[in-house]
Amino acid sequence: MRDLARPLLAWFDRHKRDLPWRRTSDPYRIWVSEIMLQQTQVDRVIGYYERFIEAFPTVEALANAPLDDVLRLWEGLGYYSRARNLHAAAQTVVREHGGAFPRSYEALRALPGIGEYTAGAVLSIACGVPTPAVDANAIRVLARLFAIEGDASKGQVRRRITELALQVLPADRPGDFNQALMELGALICIPGRPGCLICPLTDACEARARGLQERIPEVKSRPLQQLAARAHDEARWVGVSELAALAMPSPHRTLAGMLG
Ligand code: SF4
Repeated sequence: MRDLARPLLAWFDRHKRDLPWRRTSDPYRIWVSEIMLQQTQVDRVIGYYERFIEAFPTVEALANAPLDDVLRLWEGLGYYSRARNLHAAAQTVVREHGGAFPRSYEALRALPGIGEYTAGAVLSIACGVPTPAVDANAIRVLARLFAIEGDASKGQVRRRITELALQVLPADRPGDFNQALMELGALICIPGRPGCLICPLTDACEARARGLQERIPEVKSRPLQQLAARAHDEARWVGVSELAALAMPSPHRTLAGMLG
């Protein structure tokens, strides 16, 4: 397997954006940020995240808060089921885990609102557990690095990409590596025309070597391609938004945009 970790992590260490949830290793705070980032742009999330953490600094504080207070702080962020699930999950953590955030994949997945991506992100970033966290950005980057052709919205292709994500994950910095893949997809390996000339992985990239970088990943579904035109580069991990982000033809290039 090619050594992707060294050049990618060196690039990440130099170029990663300074975001409030990157200044902590508290699984609770990382979980809150990951839920807020689902389908929401990073610059929009920052203020909400800071107000939320100030009001509910611990999982106990969130669990003990009235749901109305939680929803009030969520107002304007949309997708309110995320806030309800956060609140319910916090109560489960307090009731069933004594307030200690679970550190196993199965226990995390059992919490309301935590899917495959979020469990992987929390485990790898907060706990250093080598678990893939493959969002739309990471799928696009991995599909190009390994020249994975075929419809990236299909299960077989997705499974292959997740397997590769696990194979390339370094044991010593899995959380940084997952974040670096997503950051690369947000800033350089963007939909449409990626910035291969400034990419730290250009020498290791199969799609680039074969001139396929603008054709991979392939998303065949017409409705999804239409949605892609409207999708912002933030779509994190929920169904249609994720797929739309894969195919989005005119990506945001600004650093203020988030994971694209
Ligand atoms: S070389 Fe180009 S296509 Fe390959 S990972 Fe880098 S930006 Fe993406």
